[in-house]
Amino acid sequence: MAPLAICFAAAEMAPFAKTGGLADVASALPRYLHDQGHDVRPFMPLYSRIDLDAYDFVQVDFLRDVAVDLGGHRLSFTGYAGRAPGSDLAVYFIHCPALYHRRSIYTGDADEHLRFAFFSHAVFACCQRMGWGPQVLHVNDWHTALMPLYRRTTYGWDQLFAGSRSVLTIHNIAYQGIFPAAVVPELGLAQDHHLLYQDDLRAGVVNFLKTGILYADVVTTVSETYAKEIQTEAFGCGLEGVLRQRGGSVLGIVNGVDYGTWDPRNDPHLPVRYGPEDVAEGKRRNKELLLAELGLPVAEGTPLFGIVSRLTAQKGFELLFEPLPEMLAAGDAQIVVLGTGEASYERFFHQLQQRFPAKACYYRGYNEPLAHRIEAASDFFLMPSRFEPCGLNQMYSLKYGSVPIVRKTGGLADTVRLFDPRTGDGTGIVFEHFEPDAVRWALGCAVELYRDPQAMDRLRRNGMAEDFSWQRQGKLYERLYRLLAAGG
Ligand code: ADP
Repeated sequence: MAPLAICFAAAEMAPFAKTGGLADVASALPRYLHDQGHDVRPFMPLYSRIDLDAYDFVQVDFLRDVAVDLGGHRLSFTGYAGRAPGSDLAVYFIHCPALYHRRSIYTGDADEHLRFAFFSHAVFACCQRMGWGPQVLHVNDWHTALMPLYRRTTYGWDQLFAGSRSVLTIHNIAYQGIFPAAVVPELGLAQDHHLLYQDDLRAGVVNFLKTGILYADVVTTVSETYAKEIQTEAFGCGLEGVLRQRGGSVLGIVNGVDYGTWDPRNDPHLPVRYGPEDVAEGKRRNKELLLAELGLPVAEGTPLFGIVSRLTAQKGFELLFEPLPEMLAAGDAQIVVLGTGEASYERFFHQLQQRFPAKACYYRGYNEPLAHRIEAASDFFLMPSRFEPCGLNQMYSLKYGSVPIVRKTGGLADTVRLFDPRTGDGTGIVFEHFEPDAVRWALGCAVELYRDPQAMDRLRRNGMAEDFSWQRQGKLYERLYRLLAAGG
């Protein structure tokens, strides 16, 4: 089949800049598409934290000092091309120090709207200078969600984009990019007021993500269950109505996992590597070494629970406030926690460590190698999320033979199946209700399962046999792009 021309725009992309799952998708999906022979061109801003010397950056001659006028602001950018390690796919970077040389990727600065509206325009400007008309414009989250509208307005005259169809992927609907309506001229939409959501303008705001939902040809999100959930009041964060209007064109595609980075058989961060054939022994040794590294005693016959997470309300850790200390007091378990975030959760894990120094360790920080070692060492991995668009850690856990304990929501519901000891089918422990009692039940199941080595072995192998690779998930995007390009 003929290769497709795909423009992929995102605010973050691993390994250049990352705050969450978006960066992983924005890195892996274009690489997959490139490997399939498509002409995919990813774009992202050149933040000051990206080390120009670390990657093979080159200034693109025909993208030097390109001016963009936005409601009285004349800003210009220079395009750079760089390559991620281990890939020959060119990634295009928008260099505009006035906007992107800030202390963090996202800011609460007064021109946050301008930073990403400008980026969106810059992507179009690059395509124009390349003389390149992408068949698919794949935009992600609120930062680039105005692009489907820009295609019709600012760039509506340009035949290059006449055949372009747009896909908006929502990675987390809780972040929408809501700004005062007064910024509309600075978005380059002064003449197009009437195309924005009128109730919002009357309420004095403009919502980037909502605008994207209204104008993208297709809206996708990162799991099938989340695609349904965000069309309800409980999960839609106010966008459920516009999503329901899109009805059939809101699709869920679970993110893929980069098994090049996350595979216990060849993970450079692990002291001992292993596969399904020696999972019990491999995990036992990794556990001993991790416990020693963190200063916890090895407790024979005791399960180790792991957590690696941002500590935010989304992740549901308040459900653990009662059941977890109860379990540790009963002497049944040890736990290792890695993460930073809101004070109440940090305090809880800190106090847990103080109360149970031989059973609990809280490592406050962001530490990628340690995240790998926790996946390898833990017997169970806890994700009691309140909501979870997709979630990656439960898929890593499956690959590492660490049994995920998850709440049945979003991507967790789509990727972990409740284990049934009678049939030997299933990959984890799944609970439904957002209640401490549900967690109590799940932890009890885990402790009991751990006493049955045969069942544990089966459960671990089931998980390790699952395939959430981009080879699989990427095909679903390809199919969607083809349908769109064919006018479907
Ligand atoms: P979210 O995007 O909501 O944070 P995901 O499960 O989709 O959740 O992805 C989180 C990613 O960030 C995973 O790759 C996880 O390992 C990583 N991560 C989160 N917190 C930490 C941490 N403290 N140290 C290392 N990696 C972390």
